[in-house]
Amino acid sequence: MTNTAGNAAAGNGGGPRVVLRAGREKSLLRRHPWVFSGAVRSVAGDPGRGDTVDIVAADGAFVARGAYSPRSQIRARVWTFDPAENVDDAFFRERIRSALARRDALLGAQARQACRLINAESDGLLGVVADRYGDFIVCQFLAAGAERWKGAIAASLGELAAPRGIYERSDADVRLKEGLAPVKGRLAGEEPPELIEIAEQGRRYLVDVRGGHKTGFYLDQRENRAAFAERAAGKTVLNCFAYTGGFGVAALAAGAARVVNVDSSQPSLALAARNVELNGLDPARCENVAGDAFEVLRAFAAGGRTFDLIALDPPKFADSRAHLPKACRAYKDINMQAFKVLGRGGMLFTFSCSGLLAPDLFQKIVADAALDAGRCAQIVARLGQAADHPAALAFPEGTYLKGLVAAECGDNKPASGWKSGTQERGATRIPG
Ligand code: SAH
Repeated sequence: MTNTAGNAAAGNGGGPRVVLRAGREKSLLRRHPWVFSGAVRSVAGDPGRGDTVDIVAADGAFVARGAYSPRSQIRARVWTFDPAENVDDAFFRERIRSALARRDALLGAQARQACRLINAESDGLLGVVADRYGDFIVCQFLAAGAERWKGAIAASLGELAAPRGIYERSDADVRLKEGLAPVKGRLAGEEPPELIEIAEQGRRYLVDVRGGHKTGFYLDQRENRAAFAERAAGKTVLNCFAYTGGFGVAALAAGAARVVNVDSSQPSLALAARNVELNGLDPARCENVAGDAFEVLRAFAAGGRTFDLIALDPPKFADSRAHLPKACRAYKDINMQAFKVLGRGGMLFTFSCSGLLAPDLFQKIVADAALDAGRCAQIVARLGQAADHPAALAFPEGTYLKGLVAAECGDNKPASGWKSGTQERGATRIPG
């Protein structure tokens, strides 16, 4: 054992314990905060869902203290590696205080009005998400331990961040993996209005915190919307997977000649149209196309329609390792369609928010997509999630959003022997 942090005697007052199989403490010693079910040798003391357990090595030495989740593949999530640290209300208050202090240091006053205050594992508050939208905070409690401490967390957030109200959007599917039912509704203070107006780099957006995706808005794309806007003046823009028009409004406000928003959700596009008006932008310069992006882009390509600047921000195609091959094919196809409608000298901002899709594989997929579209392109920038969505170094899963800015630079006729994965086997080649 290399662990000197404590011993079997240190603990949560002789409370329940999770005993690891021999050698399975290694990832925890590197401060990765998850204990998978396969690493568990035995469980003592009959902990309930969300209860605090000591996690000990096969020889009984203390390794960590965390939340037990009997139904989840992630059997325990670590609250602390310090045997002397108790998990109680004061513990959560301190974690929240330091997460808020980091946002104060990271973001300017305006960005702090619409930002992620707590980013789950990466802020040491596992399974807890808190987003600020003006005077309100919208939270998600996505793991058994987070659910167990919901009251304490909401109380400290209320006290330290002083919102008018806290609203809960724990209606994400991942709760089911923890054996938790979906929940949404007011958690503390006032009920939020139907739509909350936020400001982002001088632009205004309406956020539907009750019915919108996640907590209502894709705050993680804030910095990428700004980078997109910088390229938009005078351009014809395609905003594919537009949601409520985030990239489209940014482009129009920056002087884009025309924006086409494409999304399968009619209510999202209706809000995108309202966001254009809210910013005093000319609705005649903005077209909203409701439909399946795969089909809409094919139709654009067939009609010879091209764009100078494209944002391609699809939903998470890969939600499990088993779905990764299918997701890769979808990324490949949609990127190929995007290259087909990218004009000469145009620029494609292409994203993947699938954490399971490694950045190098994403880049290969985009490269194959360009090749199959017969286009040559250069990567001129690499993008990621906004600073208020940090990823703890010990928790690589926290890095999920990746973007490439690809600048078109001519035709590229594939070599005669080239058959792309898609054409050959219906699959982009996936290593391993
Ligand atoms: N770029 C947006 C966020 C995009 S979220 C922003 O900055 O706010 C992904 C969007 O893709 C959602 O709005 C969802 O409705 C849409 N979507 C999902 N599948 C789709 C499909 N097959 N065709 C078109 N839109 C789709």
